[in-house]
Amino acid sequence: MSPEKTLTEPDRLFQAIPEPVVGLCRRLAGAGKRGWVVGGCVRDSLLGLAAKDWDVATDARPEEVQRIFRRVIPTGIKHGTVTVVLGGVGYEVTTLRGEGEYRDGRHPEAVTFLDDIEEDLARRDFTFNAIALDPLARTIVDPFDGQRDLARGLLRAVGVALERFVEDGLRVLRAARFAAALECEVEASTLRAMAAPEAHRTLAKVSPERVHDEWQKAMKARRPSIAFSLMRSTEVLPLHAPELASLADDVYARGLERIDRCPSDPPLRLAALCLELGDTPTLGADEAEALLRRLRFSNDDRNRILHLVRHQLAEGDAPSSWSDAALRRWLRAVTPSRLDDVVTLAEASREGDAKAEASALGARARAMLAEGVALETRDLAVRGKDLMQALELSPGRHIGELLEALLERVLDEPSLNQAERLIEVARGLRGGAA
Ligand code: ATP
Ligand code: MG
Repeated sequence: MSPEKTLTEPDRLFQAIPEPVVGLCRRLAGAGKRGWVVGGCVRDSLLGLAAKDWDVATDARPEEVQRIFRRVIPTGIKHGTVTVVLGGVGYEVTTLRGEGEYRDGRHPEAVTFLDDIEEDLARRDFTFNAIALDPLARTIVDPFDGQRDLARGLLRAVGVALERFVEDGLRVLRAARFAAALECEVEASTLRAMAAPEAHRTLAKVSPERVHDEWQKAMKARRPSIAFSLMRSTEVLPLHAPELASLADDVYARGLERIDRCPSDPPLRLAALCLELGDTPTLGADEAEALLRRLRFSNDDRNRILHLVRHQLAEGDAPSSWSDAALRRWLRAVTPSRLDDVVTLAEASREGDAKAEASALGARARAMLAEGVALETRDLAVRGKDLMQALELSPGRHIGELLEALLERVLDEPSLNQAERLIEVARGLRGGAA
């Protein structure tokens, strides 16, 4: 058994609530309503972590909230959520809700508003996400023993886990994500429910955008491997990433170890896992592309990840033995703007001497760039028009080809990159071609 975590003392806990949030609850009280601080901010504050956003639950109906505060944005008014703006900061204020909201894309979303905070907490996903604070009365409402689970490092569904996961399949992925983010164990019946085909049927209907968000959040954890190994063991992975699901156990495990060694940069980490795909970098990139498109990764993320997969340093590569010319050609393919990314991933992928090789490669390539190495035709000391003039050539595709040929020579021998010498070489190349 791991030792229990010490949670924030109540005094400090209530002190952590920002003054505008307490003021917001006071204004609600002034109007005869109540406000509770709920959800992620309570959980994170109990753990002594900085809360991301402060959410308030209230028994006031959304229209009442709009009347009570001056600046209110009707963010999700159908679901009872409005954003109250105080001192330039937005706080989500949500009317107490009951069950009836399904996210499987099949049921019409219906919301029932309630007056009871405990019923609102009952529809929440995990016990540690179902704790409310009344900042005025200074009471903690914790009907499902979320604090106990948090202290023990246990993720437990509120109510009957299977029912909750069948109701909303996204919760299965949230469970995997929170297990990684909070580095906690999943309670046995919750874990069984995560693996249940009935839950997967609802999860299959969750939009790819939401799956994408959970993957991104999981990739920000200190050890994303916790989430991704849960996705595999509960057989959730084939729903979203059959490419990764079909990897052999040891290959997948190696990918996960690599993710954990990467800096906390979600696309870089996903690339670290995608390195295992395909028999060659090109085939791997094809599989990764299908996955990234399916999960709605942005064009920027996709291009970055595919570039990392295509230009990965192969396991046996020992770049210290590469000639300068080989290094220049590698750098041209990698492109200077992606150099740091490719090296960072190689460092995270390797250990010991092989890792030192990757770092040394980065240093050598950066030094080359600092010297102003020519990697593209526009880095050459001559332009097309110089060649046309000197060699009395007419414009056309052959000029571009000539420049390419010159670049090839310069990659081997950078000292050739002076106008007169290049023209001389070009003359030789033309002569050879004639
Ligand atoms: P984070 O913001 O770090 O992702 P969070 O716990 O704040 O974590 P949100 O998605 O912001 O998560 O949701 C706020 C709260 O709403 C949660 O703490 C939980 O109580 C509830 N909640 C969110 N999504 C669900 C869901 N799918 N099912 C049940 N309750 C949910
Ligand atoms: Mg949140």
